[in-house]
Amino acid sequence: MEDSFTVGEYVPPDRTLMGPGPSDIHPRVYSALSDTITGYLDDSYVDLMNDVQEGLRYLFRTDNEYTFAVSGTGSAAMETAFTNLVEPGETVLVPSNGYFGKRMGEVARRAGGEIVTVDAEWGEPLDPRAVADAFERHQPAVFGFIHGETSTGVKQTEIPELTSIAREHDAYVIADTVASLGGVEFHTDEWNLDVVYSGSQKCLSAPPGVSPITFSDRAVEKITSREAPVRSWYLDFTGVWEYWSDEPSYHHTGPISIMYALRESLRMIGEEGIEQQWNRHEKVAGALKTGVEAMDVPLAVEDDYWLPTLNAVSVPDGVDDTVVIDRLLTEHGIEIVGGLGALSGEIFRVGCMGYSARPANVANFIAAFGDVLDDEGAAVDVAAGAASTAGALGEYYRS
Ligand SMILES: *Cc1c(COP(=O)(O)O)cnc(C)c1O
Repeated sequence: MEDSFTVGEYVPPDRTLMGPGPSDIHPRVYSALSDTITGYLDDSYVDLMNDVQEGLRYLFRTDNEYTFAVSGTGSAAMETAFTNLVEPGETVLVPSNGYFGKRMGEVARRAGGEIVTVDAEWGEPLDPRAVADAFERHQPAVFGFIHGETSTGVKQTEIPELTSIAREHDAYVIADTVASLGGVEFHTDEWNLDVVYSGSQKCLSAPPGVSPITFSDRAVEKITSREAPVRSWYLDFTGVWEYWSDEPSYHHTGPISIMYALRESLRMIGEEGIEQQWNRHEKVAGALKTGVEAMDVPLAVEDDYWLPTLNAVSVPDGVDDTVVIDRLLTEHGIEIVGGLGALSGEIFRVGCMGYSARPANVANFIAAFGDVLDDEGAAVDVAAGAASTAGALGEYYRS
């Protein structure tokens, strides 16, 4: 055992975060993080929790009363959704077209669910016909899907179709919007979702640690009439809601500083406007997309289900993706990542979320990426990429 512990000051490297999250944090959010803390039931903090709930309703496009932020990252929100809504023995339908769909299945299984999957390829969204087939065959009580699948860069389309299939079978629908809420159009109420959750560190320009979630009245009725108690004490909706209700009482200590950060992030989203927020992500990521395409490294997904917040860029022939990723980080301070599972070595994953979704980042990324690929011997047209991105950004500035 050591007698003492001495290390120097920690100085983080200067990074531009363009991976699948976390994303860059807005300076106003950094500043909120350093505000002095209060007690977790201080009137001022309770007011702040109310502001957060109102901001989250705006963000989710919902009137759901039961809207709050889970203390934990996106996976804790995923676990909150499934562990509360699923009763042991119930059949749960989950996607098979990506890494986070798989995680959903594992979480639902641990909640006691019997897991069945919708057949779909990695790199494609769920087809409503395949979902309808799976409903006919398995009659699931709960169906979960991923709006923005971060492992493949695929956006789930036709969501109203998916929820109406579930309604016809009296089932409940859970949507994962961890990598999309705030960055890609989403309508909780209009699209008839029962539970939707997200995360703070992807499209919300905030640090990881608190995760938005919203429950419909119908979902809460199911939860409050459960026979078996929820298996997690910490994530039990009924307990957590006591803290977030109009008469808050102690359940667990709120993550106060991160909640300050989330409030500031929601405040900025309110100032910019949610539609403008969606539009900015689409246009700025669109400048990235057109740049890589002009360079001759196309996206690995079709335009119809392109996810602006996470771009799956094909790895050109003859190039080692890990070398490119490493050089972008060490020579340019830009973080991107590679593909998972079957897509390892096939795609780069380039995030464009929250405060990272800025013209300067995209222009810098395209220049650095083109330069590194060229230097690694890939057949890329660097100048065409830069020109195409500059053109798209110019249009965005003028719009
Ligand atoms: C990042 C992510 C998660 C998990 O979130 P954590 O904050 O890492 O726990 C879940 N779903 C999707 C789609 C994600 O991108």
